[in-house]
Amino acid sequence: MGTSSKMSLRGILYAVTFLIAVLLAIDAADNSSLATRTSEVSSPAASHELKHNVVLFVPDALRADFLSCYGYPHPTSPNFDALAQRGMLFERCYAQSSWTKPSIASLLTGLLPSVHRAVSSTHTPEQQREAVKVQVLRPQFSTLFEEFKAAGYQTATFQVNSHLQPQFGFGQGVDHYWFEHWADPAREMDAVVAWLEKAVKEPFIAYIHVRDPHPGFTPSEQVLEQVFGKADTAVPTSAAPLPGIEYMKRLYAGEVRYVDAQFGRLVEKLQQLGVADRTTFAVVSDHGESFQEHGVFGHGETLFDEVLHVPLIIRPARTTSARRVPWNVRMFDLYPSLLTLSGIEPPPNLQAESLFTKDGELAVSANRIVLSETDKKHPSGDEWLTCVIRDNAKAIYDTRADSYIIFDRRTDPKELNGRPPSAGSENSEIVKLLKRQQSLSEKLAAGFGPAEWTGMDSETREQLRSLGYLP
Ligand SMILES: [Zn+2]
Repeated sequence: MGTSSKMSLRGILYAVTFLIAVLLAIDAADNSSLATRTSEVSSPAASHELKHNVVLFVPDALRADFLSCYGYPHPTSPNFDALAQRGMLFERCYAQSSWTKPSIASLLTGLLPSVHRAVSSTHTPEQQREAVKVQVLRPQFSTLFEEFKAAGYQTATFQVNSHLQPQFGFGQGVDHYWFEHWADPAREMDAVVAWLEKAVKEPFIAYIHVRDPHPGFTPSEQVLEQVFGKADTAVPTSAAPLPGIEYMKRLYAGEVRYVDAQFGRLVEKLQQLGVADRTTFAVVSDHGESFQEHGVFGHGETLFDEVLHVPLIIRPARTTSARRVPWNVRMFDLYPSLLTLSGIEPPPNLQAESLFTKDGELAVSANRIVLSETDKKHPSGDEWLTCVIRDNAKAIYDTRADSYIIFDRRTDPKELNGRPPSAGSENSEIVKLLKRQQSLSEKLAAGFGPAEWTGMDSETREQLRSLGYLP
């Protein structure tokens, strides 16, 4: 009783302070005085009360175009759609790499893969078999969790991908780290829910990285029926034993529906606990997935749209209105965005930029320059496929071959007619931009020192082999 009385008194004081500020029609400069006055009336417990929770939900290998709210013609994503109806859907978000480890390291540092150098790196087929050395996320980078922890938040990671284990530097700043190799998303969500019931009393950030729809497609008949109806769930027959690409895509869509249902469980739990409204939700993926658009299945070895275009839906705490944002943005922009939305100043010298102002307004009103890199084509740790996208122009550069390929996505949205650049033409400008960006990244990377390497235990090696990451 006493506690709740104090809480409501603090609530009233805060509301009155806020109302006075609004009535005075404060400008940006006066916002700082609002902050000062708020802190004057707040005890440490009250400041906790004013902090929002953050949920960062990352389905592995989720393409944007397989969600209904991104135009997929079947109902794969009722819970993600519902989130988008109360928040911001970014129509053109691109991942900073096309496979898990470097992409998530970019999300957690706001830096490109060639700068943070947390990639896998194995020089020869023999070394690949043994996976003798991989690069680690070094301690000199301040992770998203370290920033939130320093601001007084509980930090938690729930994840199932062996690449993202603490032994490779991904536990920095994480208070509660849950890992179970390739666990079913429902089992993982059980762990999340159990943790939330205890953790919900204090502000938290929870990063939840789930297995599906990563390849290894095993959706149940039930979810396939939810997406396609009964007629389309037949398995391949003896007359047609090999699943075609369209069939693979349908299995993938079933997994999207399954992971959406787990996200629904998470939202429901936060509602039951009474904190959903004061929780900022972000849904994004680490990369997309290829279904032979450019001759390959899977992800990691190319930088085409199907492996880079990922969903990004952000529902800032207490927001209820929907907005679709048409501009090109970057997945790693989430790092400064989540900090800014939580009133925390992002660290300096990031390559990522917040999508929001300090007042919570959208800070993007034009296409951002997109950069993505992968080491998977030449896994030496020093050679990259790198790409830049400016508006509709895209260039991919292979550092080993020292060759460029240019796409004009106005006339070639599927990136099927790439051409080499020609001197003096419009498309040579995109090459100049890519070179400039590379040079900036090299300077930044030099400031962080050389990459660091670690070995891998046999259990992790077998886990990665079972997922197809090692021969
Ligand atoms: Zn992944």
